[in-house]
Amino acid sequence: MITNPLWARLTLATLLPMTLVTLALSPIVTSHLEERVDGKRRSAESLLASEYALLLQGMNESFNQVLATAEYPLLQRFLSRQAAAQTPTWGLAAQGDWEQLAALFDTLLTHFGRYTHLAVIDPEGKEWVATSTVPLLPRPPVIDHGDTPAFRQAMTLQSRDLYVSPPRLGASGEESSPVTTVIDIATPIVDDQGERLGVLLFTLDWSRLTASLLHAREAGSGQALLVDAQGKWLLPDADGPGESFGQPLAARWGDAGTAMATRPQGTATLDEHLLAFRQHDLRTQHYRSQAGMILSEAETQPWRLGILVPRPSLWELLKEHPVQLLAIALVYLLSVAFGVFWVLSDHRLRGLRQRALTFSREARQYAGEVQDLYEHAPCGYHSLDSDGRVIKINRTELGWLGYRADEVIDRRFYRDFITPETRAAFDAAFQQVLGEGQEGSAECELLCRDGTRLPVAIQGTAQVTEEGFQYSRATVFDLSERKALEARLEKQALTDPLTGLGNRRYLEGQAAMEIARAQRSGAPLSLIAIDLDHFKRINDTHGHDVGDLVLQAFANTARALLRDGDVLCRMGGEEFAVLLPDTHREQALEVAERLRKAVATTPARVGQAGMEDATLAYTASLGVTLICAGESTLKPAIKRADQGLYAAKEAGRNRAHWQPATS
Ligand code: GH3
Ligand code: MG
Ligand code: MG
Repeated sequence: MITNPLWARLTLATLLPMTLVTLALSPIVTSHLEERVDGKRRSAESLLASEYALLLQGMNESFNQVLATAEYPLLQRFLSRQAAAQTPTWGLAAQGDWEQLAALFDTLLTHFGRYTHLAVIDPEGKEWVATSTVPLLPRPPVIDHGDTPAFRQAMTLQSRDLYVSPPRLGASGEESSPVTTVIDIATPIVDDQGERLGVLLFTLDWSRLTASLLHAREAGSGQALLVDAQGKWLLPDADGPGESFGQPLAARWGDAGTAMATRPQGTATLDEHLLAFRQHDLRTQHYRSQAGMILSEAETQPWRLGILVPRPSLWELLKEHPVQLLAIALVYLLSVAFGVFWVLSDHRLRGLRQRALTFSREARQYAGEVQDLYEHAPCGYHSLDSDGRVIKINRTELGWLGYRADEVIDRRFYRDFITPETRAAFDAAFQQVLGEGQEGSAECELLCRDGTRLPVAIQGTAQVTEEGFQYSRATVFDLSERKALEARLEKQALTDPLTGLGNRRYLEGQAAMEIARAQRSGAPLSLIAIDLDHFKRINDTHGHDVGDLVLQAFANTARALLRDGDVLCRMGGEEFAVLLPDTHREQALEVAERLRKAVATTPARVGQAGMEDATLAYTASLGVTLICAGESTLKPAIKRADQGLYAAKEAGRNRAHWQPATS
């Protein structure tokens, strides 16, 4: 099985909800963002339109002022007189006109702060009347405009035509910042016959005209861009021309420059900005002023004016709506928390399932073991219903009985397996189990299929629930070994270990039965007491072991001689007795005599085979008597037989003596 560690599932549980939430939210957020971008783009476009209009308005005003001033009759008269006077190079032909013109120019300078220099130039290029913010110009003029583009171009133009120079660096007229950006506006001064009398030149402070563009930039709402056709930066800084002026736009706004170069106007989406732009050709501006043709440096036209505004970012959008940001964060947090919670609870569930599996496996194994124990226990188990029908029984007991389970379960009453002799005990015990005591036991005998009987002890208990008796459950112990042992012990208790004959207790037991039977039948019953002669001497002479051998030899000899029903036993020491059922006096005396003879003629084997002293002859004395009718125990008969025995000893031993009842 592929392992699926917890950390991997936790990672998945974190990433998956985040991905899903992102997928769900992104269309909404994206559309919001796009709306915002569109709004910004529109504001950039309107800003561009207003800035463009403002710039054009300022320039057109100046163009019109230049044209209006050029048509001033005083100006034509001054230049005509200067030309006609043939005055020395630096002399003034019309002092009065000059002073009026100077006053007019001063007024223009004062009223329209946008000009830095106003000049009247004769066809030779000499500047005759000039006013600038720099006071105390030399008089008569020394400045020669012969080589300046403004003069040369204007001298080629018709009346009401204009020459407009590109922005350039020039004198500002202010002491604090003497250099500023300017443009020259020049127009020919033409007399009534169409003769060019000279040139009127207005130099305009470019930084004043573009102040509104600068303002837009400073306010932070956008950034104005103005470049010429070659991409050179045309906007001065607020406090002077600035480092960028005249430099290629690409150095600072490369992507904007590229975008503006592709089309005459439009918008573009840059990495961090939105751009609205349009181009403007000075040479077409005469449609919006009173000018005829406008001439400028061809390679610088058209200009391109652009407004850059910051492109709205997702983060800014969210920052503006902290509640929505919080809600989104909450959605992420909840989804991740849910994922993690799900994984953890699933992990716990798996653990529990695993444990449950282990438990159930162990339980099955345990149940199997219990079943095995039940089936193969060394004792029998069975369960009976209230009628005594077998409903469950283990293999051990089935093995004892010799039946198969299907022959017994639900088919047989357990009582049928009990021998008739012990059935009463079983019935009594079963009734106890069914009764209030709920338990009972009995020693019974099982009747096996092969006819054998098996002594058992049965201990039963009732299984009772709230509904009452359900079934009985019994344990069955095999008593056969115990019974055999008991029998063996019983036998040992009645047997003399040296000779294997019954002992005195055995004789007494047998005698009780025989006396009872004799009394019932009236048959005679005799008793012989036997004592080996001079046995002490045998012991003393040959040793105790030889004495034992002699005792065993006697037992064998007597056993071989007696009938099956005769009861031979050892009374103790070298004394024996024989109970002879159905034997009257003569027969008893006969048996006694036969015994005496057999002993006397059958020496005991007491040594190693082949040795000379391998046998030892011995004799016995016997006392014979009859158990009298009315004697319920053997005691008086034994006494009499002993008396007969004593008499035989007295008479010289190795003989049998009849001892009659004294009464
Ligand atoms: P009597 O002819 O008068 O009967 O003389 P006795 O020596 O046989 O009689 P007594 O009763 O004096 O001696 C019996 C002896 O039997 C004494 C005892 O040491 C011996 N004896 C008793 N039981 C055993 C036994 O189990 N084995 C052996 N070897 N000797 C036994
Ligand atoms: Mg004795
Ligand atoms: Mg003796």
